[in-house]
Amino acid sequence: MGVSVNPSKLIKGATGDWEVVIGMEVHAQVNSEAKLFSGSSTTFGAEPNDHVSFVDAAMPGMLPVINEECVRQCIRSGLGLRAKINLRSVFDRKNYFYPDLPQGYQISQYKHPIVGEGMVYVDMPDGETVEVRIERLHVEQDAGKSVHDLHPTMSLVDLNRSGVGLMEIVSLPDLRSAEEAKAYVSKLRTILRYLGTCDGDMEKGNLRADVNVSVRRPGEPFGTRCEIKNLNSIRYIGQAIDYEARRQIGVLEDGGVIDQETRLFDHARGETRSMRSKEEAHDYRYFPDPDLLPLEFTQSYVDALAKDLPELPDEKKARFIKDYGLSAYDAGVLVVERASADYFENVAAGRDGKAAANWVINELFGRLNKEGMDVAASPVSAAQLGAIIDLIAKGTISGKIAKDLFEIVWQDGGDPERIVEERGLKQVTDTGAIEKAVDEIIAANPDKVEQAKAKPTLLGWFVGQVMKATGGKANPQAVNALLRQKLGIGG
Ligand code: ADP
Ligand code: MG
Repeated sequence: MGVSVNPSKLIKGATGDWEVVIGMEVHAQVNSEAKLFSGSSTTFGAEPNDHVSFVDAAMPGMLPVINEECVRQCIRSGLGLRAKINLRSVFDRKNYFYPDLPQGYQISQYKHPIVGEGMVYVDMPDGETVEVRIERLHVEQDAGKSVHDLHPTMSLVDLNRSGVGLMEIVSLPDLRSAEEAKAYVSKLRTILRYLGTCDGDMEKGNLRADVNVSVRRPGEPFGTRCEIKNLNSIRYIGQAIDYEARRQIGVLEDGGVIDQETRLFDHARGETRSMRSKEEAHDYRYFPDPDLLPLEFTQSYVDALAKDLPELPDEKKARFIKDYGLSAYDAGVLVVERASADYFENVAAGRDGKAAANWVINELFGRLNKEGMDVAASPVSAAQLGAIIDLIAKGTISGKIAKDLFEIVWQDGGDPERIVEERGLKQVTDTGAIEKAVDEIIAANPDKVEQAKAKPTLLGWFVGQVMKATGGKANPQAVNALLRQKLGIGG
């Protein structure tokens, strides 16, 4: 990597500029009906301890059996990360004691993960593409949950999550700002959701990130990092990084040193605070799990999965730019969710792609956001929006009326073309009717007419008046042409 640093990403300290360096470990819950090593359900929201088999509760003598669906999903995720798939990987025991970990160890992968080096392309709003190298993806069990607020003197434990499959996706320290880190997690989430390998629901904890942060002077070697554990929202990821970078800069500028430690983010205070230092770090005594054989599959198994992958966001974006003539920015917005991309393509089919993108992004998404709704729940279907766009293209309605029509369809549903007929929303292209309105406005405003002759930008005011007088239904081109002619303004 080069030494050149984009100055806009640097953080100003009291003694000069600093660069923040970030690497992430993202935990993504594997989308599968059953847990990683047992047949228990992974359904969210059950009564505590409803989904716990003897294996999940670590009863003596119980043996784990690998769930092939989880393996398949990990391989598919690896392919989506453009990563090397390892045909042989090994399950290791990571030993530690925790009340919600009944085995006394977590079955994970250590030296030989199922997925090796890959790459995620992260497009930033300014057009830059950040290349984030993936170090590995390994599969492991989730732990249960301790509940401390249900009983006055006891802690309770819920093992529903215990044994659920997690993919841990580890990046190299290739991120240089909170914005990039947030965009990286969003992109990862998009890829996994396209693949259907993780639902990406951060509120349910199905996607969460450990964020490693260090700072350095531009061009210097990496500084000592701190790891902020278990962030479960993209906003918190950004806040935690900004706070942590500032904290480290403050310590270093005061002549201190950074201790490598694990920290927690307190979102109520917007601060990170120390959880444990490197000296207190666990010695996990990893060793291969004797209950499980190494995980092996063939290249042809991987190839078959690769062949069946859906079109992924990067490819879809490139296709939208090429086939529909969209800007990179608009294409990027449309491909964030597969459902939005599909909706857009249904609207764009046989129509002007740019007009379709404008309507979907500005009107539809704007309206959905206002209501906090998903595109899947949109009361205006792709067919209805397409019909509205057709009415504009044919000159039947003006762009302004189209927005009113969109709102009517949003509220009451119905066939846009019929609504236009029934409510008399048709654009007036009849020059006679428009001319009458133009003449009236001119006659009523002699002073403005004089001014407009000297200052042609006043034409806009006249156009506005005529549109108002015709209820927005006059064809704007016709209004413009007539006004120019009558006021004697060239154009
Ligand atoms: P460990 O061996 O303790 O797991 P790794 O070297 O595997 O540590 O790194 C864990 C995470 O920390 C990775 O996501 C990596 O990108 C990140 N990381 C490593 N060094 C730094 C650093 N100096 N600054 C920020 N992040 C770092
Ligand atoms: Mg590591």
